[in-house]
Amino acid sequence: MSTVVVGAGIIGVSIAHELRKRGREVTLVDKGEPGMGASFGNMASIAVTEFMPASRPSVWKQIPGWMLDPEGPVRVRPGYMPRLVPWFLRFIAASRPRTLRALEEQGAALCKLALGDTQALLSEIGAGDQLTETGCLSLYTDEAEFKADRDHIEILDRFGFGYEVLGHNAIRDLEPEITTRIGKAVLFPDNRSLKSPHRYVTLLAERFQALGGRIERGDVIGFDRSDRITGVRLKDGQVIPASEIVLCAGAWTGILAALLGEPIPLETERGYHTQIMDPGLSLRHSIIWPARAFMVTPTAGGIRVGGTVEMAGLHAAPDYRRSKVTVRRAREALPNLRVEQATEWMGHRPALPDTVPILSRSARTPGVFYATGHGHLGVTYAATTGRLIGDLVTGARPPIDLHPYRVNRF
Ligand SMILES: Cc1cc2nc3c(=O)[nH]c(=O)nc-3n(C[C@H](O)[C@H](O)[C@H](O)COP(=O)(O)OP(=O)(O)OC[C@H]3O[C@@H](n4cnc5c(N)ncnc54)[C@H](O)[C@@H]3O)c2cc1C
Repeated sequence: MSTVVVGAGIIGVSIAHELRKRGREVTLVDKGEPGMGASFGNMASIAVTEFMPASRPSVWKQIPGWMLDPEGPVRVRPGYMPRLVPWFLRFIAASRPRTLRALEEQGAALCKLALGDTQALLSEIGAGDQLTETGCLSLYTDEAEFKADRDHIEILDRFGFGYEVLGHNAIRDLEPEITTRIGKAVLFPDNRSLKSPHRYVTLLAERFQALGGRIERGDVIGFDRSDRITGVRLKDGQVIPASEIVLCAGAWTGILAALLGEPIPLETERGYHTQIMDPGLSLRHSIIWPARAFMVTPTAGGIRVGGTVEMAGLHAAPDYRRSKVTVRRAREALPNLRVEQATEWMGHRPALPDTVPILSRSARTPGVFYATGHGHLGVTYAATTGRLIGDLVTGARPPIDLHPYRVNRF
């Protein structure tokens, strides 16, 4: 009997690899090829300084204004609003000061482990060169923009994450392509990026198979249970016997949890990128401009521009106007940016209303585990998630208290 891991995104592949390493028989099941969900087109950042809950007042107070702006960083498709109400009420509940403090601690606890765990995992699979040595630059035109982002910096101070404030000349020395309009920046040296997030998944999947792990193509539509989980049902009628299952199907995990009678408030925050293979410039750092809400990362052989949140569920067609807005904004930061040989992409971030992932055994069905809701930080948290779920499944003691990440906390 094997442990069946459902979903071969970066989370599922990391967990499958870890469990195989610990001697389990592991079958990894996905309806498609590994790494073709959100893990394909994300912004490639090991963003250890970005764990702040989205429900903090400096963010949610801007939401009504953003809603009225079709080019704003957060967009809710009008037809989807009624579906979003229960999730949004939980989001607001997560903005209470005491709750926020606890959520910050939970995010920081994962981010404290994330870079070291990612480096260790990459070197273990012979892919240490996939991670850049340079960090991320956060840009501000002036003091007012910098002050508007000060709660971010204060949280980093509270948890001891390093950063460096840079003036005009230092910014130009590091990245000459950044417009002279930018007067101030913060360098986050530990906020590294991957040469290709998709390659991270495929290299890990290859290593998992080399260790004897099995990858099966199949659409999971149900489960067999007695007093505990016994199998996973696929759409083609096949049943894979299982002694345990780990559900980590990204934004689709909520559908599977509901089949087990354990609903979780999982939404999708849809995000967009434009991959530019001939940008006419080169960058060493990733850059974010908080006031313009976009990110640029040198990755996948070119430059990737992305960001924004669109709430429209799992089925609506992409609206690529959102990628064009971020490219326009990126050109404000990088005046020489040329958009040649460009492709657009949309993916589904698995998003919980309190920003913290579920890393948990089931509260209802013995043998079932969940690893989902990694939101904007799934790539960042992947190696750590593999390790923590490895501990949970094998009964080892995890390095942090996993109670706050339980599935039945909502
Ligand atoms: C635009 C954008 C930018 C981002 N930037 C960053 C970043 O810079 N840094 C960062 O850390 N994170 C980033 N993220 C978030 C990150 O990409 C996600 O959190 C992460 O990829 C989620 O991984 P996952 O394995 O949970 O889900 P996914 O990668 O979506 O994988 C889920 C898998 O489950 C499979 N599946 C679903 N249902 C079934 C079923 N019924 N049966 C079988 N298989 C099923 C799917 O086919 C898919 O392969 C970004 C996301 C987006 C969209």
